[in-house]
Order: sequence, then C-alpha cells, then structure tokens
Amino acid sequence: MTAIQEPVTPAAAQDQPYRYARAELVEPDWRRFPGWQHVTDAEWRDAQWQRVHCIRNVKQLRALMGDLLEDRFYEDLLADQREMATMSMLLPPQMINTMAPTAGTDPAKVTEAFYADPIRRYMMPVRSDRDPVWPNHPHSERDSLHEAEMWVVEGLTHRYPTKVLAEMISTCPQYCGHCTRMDLVGNSTEQVEKHKLALKPVDRQDAMIDYLKRTPGVRDVVVSGGDVANVPWPQLESFLMRLMDIETVRDVRLATKALAALPQHWIQPKVVEGLERVAVTAQRRGVNLAIHTHVNHAQSVTPLVAEAARTALEVGVRDVRNQGVLMRGVNATSAALLDLCFALQGEANILPYYFYMCDMIPNAEHWRVSVHEAQELQHAIMGYLPGYATPRIVCDVPYVGKRWVHQLAEYDREKGISYWTKNYRTGIELDDPEALNRRYPYYDPISTLPEAGQAWWNTQPRS
Ligand code: SF4
Repeated sequence: MTAIQEPVTPAAAQDQPYRYARAELVEPDWRRFPGWQHVTDAEWRDAQWQRVHCIRNVKQLRALMGDLLEDRFYEDLLADQREMATMSMLLPPQMINTMAPTAGTDPAKVTEAFYADPIRRYMMPVRSDRDPVWPNHPHSERDSLHEAEMWVVEGLTHRYPTKVLAEMISTCPQYCGHCTRMDLVGNSTEQVEKHKLALKPVDRQDAMIDYLKRTPGVRDVVVSGGDVANVPWPQLESFLMRLMDIETVRDVRLATKALAALPQHWIQPKVVEGLERVAVTAQRRGVNLAIHTHVNHAQSVTPLVAEAARTALEVGVRDVRNQGVLMRGVNATSAALLDLCFALQGEANILPYYFYMCDMIPNAEHWRVSVHEAQELQHAIMGYLPGYATPRIVCDVPYVGKRWVHQLAEYDREKGISYWTKNYRTGIELDDPEALNRRYPYYDPISTLPEAGQAWWNTQPRS
C-alpha cells in the first residue's frame, strides 16, 4: 500500500501510539520477477493461469527468481522442508507477488527483504526461522483442536452447541506453513504423513446433510476445508442449495483464503454467476450468507482482493469477513494489526473480525505469541477502528473452543500455562458431568518464559 496523502493532523494527534494515514491499495508489478517478465495483465487475471503457475518447489522458485535470490536462501528452504515443514509448498503467483514488493533487483537486498518479509515468513518458512531451542512445544498435537475426534460424520465437526464445521475437501489453492489442519490438509511432507478422507465427496456430503436434517439445534454451518475454492463449483453450489433447503439452517459461512491468495478464482464469471444464484436463494430464505477469508498482513490486500470482495457483496453475499492468525514476525505488533484492519475495512470492504492465536501444532513455536502478549495487543488496538470492526483476538483452547484472550480463569506466567473454562459441552462430552467445572490448559511458547519457567520445562519430558 502507498500513502494517499499526508494528513493534516494537530500536533497532539501525532503523538498517538498509532498514527492512521489512509493508504491506497497497490498491485505490485509481477514483471519484476525474471520468470514473469512477459506475463500479460489478462494472464495475471486468469485463475487457471494462476493455478498452473503456482510455485511448488525450490526448482520452480529458482526459475522464477533467476539470480535475484542468493543460494543460502534456497539451502535454508530445503533444510526446512527436510526437517520441519508440516505443510508442502504451494504458492499462487498472486501471493508471491506480495512478497518483498519494493526490494529492487540487487540480490543481496532481495534476499534480505525475502528473509524479513511477513508473507514469506508464514507461506514459505525456512529452517532458520524456527525456534532454535524449542521449535516444538511438548504439548503440540497434529490435530490440536481435536476436530476429527468431534466428527459426527466424516468431515463434520460438531464442537459448539449450535454450529458445525463442514470440511468439504482436504486441499487448498495455497498452503500456509502454520495450518491448523496440517493433520489432514495438503500433501504429506517429509515429516508428516497426512490423514486422508475416506468417503467419496458425494457420500460425505449426503451424510452431512442427513445429520443436519436430523439435528435441528444446529443453525450455523461453516463450509470449509481446506478451502472451498478447490471444490468444483457445481458441487459446491449443489451442497449450498441443499443446506438452504434445511429450514433450521440460518447462517452459512464459506471459508476461503483464496479470496486473498487467489482472488482471480472469485472473479471468474462462472463462479460469480453461481455465487449470485446462491446469494439470491439465501436472501429469499432469510439465511445469512457470508464469506470468511484469512488475511494476515496489509501487503496481501491488493486491488484484486478488493475487487473479489466487492464482487461477492454486489451479487448479494451479506458480508465478507476476515479471520487472521496472529503470528510473531508476521503481524504481532499493534501497528501491523491496525494497518491490516484499516486496509481491510477501509479499502476492501472486508470486516476485520477475529485474530486467532496460532494453534499448538508441531514446529510452530517461532510463530506463536504468549497469552499475555496477545492481551497487550488487544488492548493496543482498541479505539482506533469502528467498534463493530475492531477484531477480537481469540485463543482456540483445546476441548473448549474460542475464548477472548482476556477470558482466562487463571494464569501461571512463570510456566506459561493459562487455564480456561467453558459454558457448553462439545459433542464428545454430552454425558460428562464435570465438563463445565473443569479447567482446560493452554501453553505459552517456552522461549517467551522467564528463566525459571524455561528451567522447569527443561525438567519435563519432550514429546
Ligand atoms: S488456507 Fe486454511 S486450510 Fe488451507 S492451508 Fe491455509 S490455513 Fe490451512
């Protein structure tokens, strides 16, 4: 983004901890990459061109970058893929183009800018990013939110009393290094053999619809994955129409990071026309249809992303909202969060809704922040945005669900263990009389603890 104007501000306002200046959205010029020097505007807007030209491995990255990146970066990337990565590499050109947008052509400077870049840091992790002492928390888990444990039919997680999550597909057009569903989503890596969905998509969808018909207490369905942008449109449309045939379903939310990572998908005529049919049906039946996307940094908010959000709203989707993930080195400062929220809210019509703390999946410690850091960030971002557009920072506590970061019951700051309570039973605790009295732990990254706390963890078994 570039600043539109220097605001004329009274001296006192300049002393505010955060200074707002409206910034224009910019699509960085992809022709700065040697491999895309001759790519036309029409090709860039084409979803199929974007999918075909995704970067999936180091060889393709080298071909794209020419001499722009130093060898040490590729070696670091390969070391990470060998030893740490829980997600394979898949980056649409749109996302690569938002990395180091102003680094120029000097390889030393481009390499430094790539290392420091917030988008690169979560979409293309390298070995030296990881925490050198505690890359993995002893309590990290592959399915850290226990979603599969709460499946009522394959892919349908019933965790909250009135809401379900429908995992339609286990792939995405892009893979994020910190993916919460790393257990299931994407291709296996050297470190992680992925689980596979066993049912055929059509059978899984039939079973989900059947469960929802039998369970009228569920009124809200998050249609997710993976990313719904990878579900063939006719199949997705048919599922959404069947959902809206169920009288008791009142909210439907489509989860797609592709709105920001591959906005070209959401502006294709066949998708826009289909989305309009679904939105019109939703309006007629009084169902709230929304898109939930996943943007973590202001650099990702480009004119094409704004166009995709505007298009969805124009065809009748009620709201486009953002659920970002709070990550060190990416957006864990109040300025980065507010810059992103103002870009989303002010320039792209996307409501900044939540920031999730990064979940306790393996090898994620360098991204995670402690609960007290998250509380400080929540405090620091209050009061700048309209109240309805001020995001809540939430911790997804295993076996509990989303809790606002100030809602903890008890907090041992030395050991970095917070304890949380809940006010409903998840689907696996309906007969558990103690479920609502129990305290559920959540763990800060060990490297953020005081010396005594780190020493205590050193006496504990490492998983
Ligand atoms: S888009 Fe979502 S589901 Fe897909 S890799 Fe990223 S975090 Fe995981």
